[in-house]
Amino acid sequence: MDALVLEKKGELSLRDVALDETLGPRDVRIKLHTVGICGSDVHYYTHGGVGPFVVNAPMVLGHEASGTVIEVGSEVTTLAEGDRVCMEPGVPDPNSRATRLGKYNVDPAVRFWATPPVHGILRPTCVHPEAFTFKLPDNVSFAEAAMVEPLAVGIHAATKARVAPGDIGVVLGAGPIGLVTALSALAAGCAKVFVTDLSERKLEIAASLSQAIVPVPAKSGALKDRVMAETDGWGADVLFEASGAPAAAAGVFEPLAPGGCVVMIGGQAEPVAYDAGAAMVREARVENVFRYAHVFPRCVSMLSSGAIDVKPLITRTFGFDESVRAFEIAAEAPPADVKMQIELPQ
Ligand SMILES: [Zn+2]
Repeated sequence: MDALVLEKKGELSLRDVALDETLGPRDVRIKLHTVGICGSDVHYYTHGGVGPFVVNAPMVLGHEASGTVIEVGSEVTTLAEGDRVCMEPGVPDPNSRATRLGKYNVDPAVRFWATPPVHGILRPTCVHPEAFTFKLPDNVSFAEAAMVEPLAVGIHAATKARVAPGDIGVVLGAGPIGLVTALSALAAGCAKVFVTDLSERKLEIAASLSQAIVPVPAKSGALKDRVMAETDGWGADVLFEASGAPAAAAGVFEPLAPGGCVVMIGGQAEPVAYDAGAAMVREARVENVFRYAHVFPRCVSMLSSGAIDVKPLITRTFGFDESVRAFEIAAEAPPADVKMQIELPQ
């Protein structure tokens, strides 16, 4: 079958690949419909690796996906042929200690699409476990469903933060993950979320999503001054670091209220500065997230009910035959784009 293959750093091709798609008794076969282009896909393309994961052999990209079930295994009970679905891309070892403890996302044995050596799903079909495949209500489109994967990161982060109604939030970074995190924090109950970024255009997009999002240009001291001015000098209850920028990570406690929580989302290639003194005097709680666990059905429910609207984040859609071009454009990081998606032929 034809797939979008990362041959090696900087080289993509749309070509035939032989892939094992044996259907197990608890698997479903899915015809892919929409696949989002993730920052990690682009990073593999431009850098040949993400952190410890290095591309040493040709790999199919893509992990943010929706599609239609076209065949079910003999023991599948919750899905049927024709069901529209989205898929959680990381499949853990069901018997691992992490999985048995309910922390399957940190199972060292997890197999995650488009993370070497596991192939991704920018291809016509795939086989996936029923347990990690989620049926879509009629009012959730394939495009929205392919946003569930990045949204899951934001929902997991807001859950870890234990947002309470009326909390004041801060999100550092207005990329796709920063924006879904801001939406998740609002849906979790934040009264207001300050979003900061270096890009003016990204802040305009952030501000357009909700009246409760306050854009603040990332300039030295600007965020802290603004948050303190609007909270009687108290600070924000929850702060999400979603920029992956070392300088931003070094300042996470500055706008934080006493007893507040910082959630680290953005990946960091190198160790970053941590202001232990600023954390101590606030008795700050610090949480880290690695992908997500147990949140896909919640995300689907929130899209269906309208509690969260991700449609404004989908800024461009390409055909599968334009995949290589789509990645070239994504690699240039156009400031007006949030999420680009690729549609497979149906
Ligand atoms: Zn992703």
